[in-house]
Amino acid sequence: MLHISRPRTVTTIVELRDVVRDWRRAGDLVALVPTMGGLHEGHLSLVRTARRRAKRVIASIFVNPTQFAEGEDFEKYPRDEVRDAELLANAGCDLIYAPTVSEIYPDGFATNISVKNITESLCGTHRPGHFDGVTTVVCKLLNQAQADYAVFGEKDWQQLVSIRQMVRDLDMPIRIASSPIVREADGLAMSSRNRYLSEKERKIAGKLNRALFASADHIAHGIDLERVLEACTKALLTAGFNEIDYIEARDSANLNLIHTLEHGKEARIFAAVRLGQTRLIDNVPIERTGRAG
Ligand code: AMP
Repeated sequence: MLHISRPRTVTTIVELRDVVRDWRRAGDLVALVPTMGGLHEGHLSLVRTARRRAKRVIASIFVNPTQFAEGEDFEKYPRDEVRDAELLANAGCDLIYAPTVSEIYPDGFATNISVKNITESLCGTHRPGHFDGVTTVVCKLLNQAQADYAVFGEKDWQQLVSIRQMVRDLDMPIRIASSPIVREADGLAMSSRNRYLSEKERKIAGKLNRALFASADHIAHGIDLERVLEACTKALLTAGFNEIDYIEARDSANLNLIHTLEHGKEARIFAAVRLGQTRLIDNVPIERTGRAG
């Protein structure tokens, strides 16, 4: 097996900036991939996307406490620094930034970045405070790293759109790139949380993406959107999912709810469902076929 040495890990803003300053002096472009660790192929695809844009790639690993609501899985969130470092080395990452909670939120920290509208639907209604936690920490990570690019996954579409909005609104000097959803062989979107699933739940979990792709196809062929999503919800409950937080069709750019497909506008189906103790999210594009209205 090819052995590549592990990337250096830094834990402080000062060390991070020192490394980035040297790279910039050498004229290298720098890209940042923010993660919470528990890495899988989805994260590594972001590192590869980053590599295509920049000579130097930083992956941050920080399980951000402020984006977990009361009673969520902050304590049990998967943490495995050694395995993460090995995976990142093989994907072409140059530096790991793994700050402590007190490095990110020192005593007296009092600022909150809150993006309106986009964060108020979908996961925003089911995870109070989640997106404020995300945009605040991402704003800090971007300021700390001072990279040219930051790369985010399309799996967390609402997060991606919120970060783009924040960067635009706050004139942050960084370009945001996105990377498509990486899926398991049965189509389940890869997620650090998939390891919570029992064997039986894992089999059921694969049905989510298939139901969403089938629904997108029906809508694209002109079948009434509301009827399709209602049938999809029922089918998932029958398949064994415990609860549906939402299954909705929305405009891909501004996340406005849609009731019919409109020409010239991209739409997606967004879903969050619960399976046992695990919450799964996914989204799929509604690809127009020409037959729809
Ligand atoms: P997380 O560690 O779950 O906070 O995710 C860190 C980044 O990886 C985010 O930009 C996610 O959207 C992205 N990501 C997570 N899972 C996937 C996946 N299956 N495919 C593509 N990107 C992903």
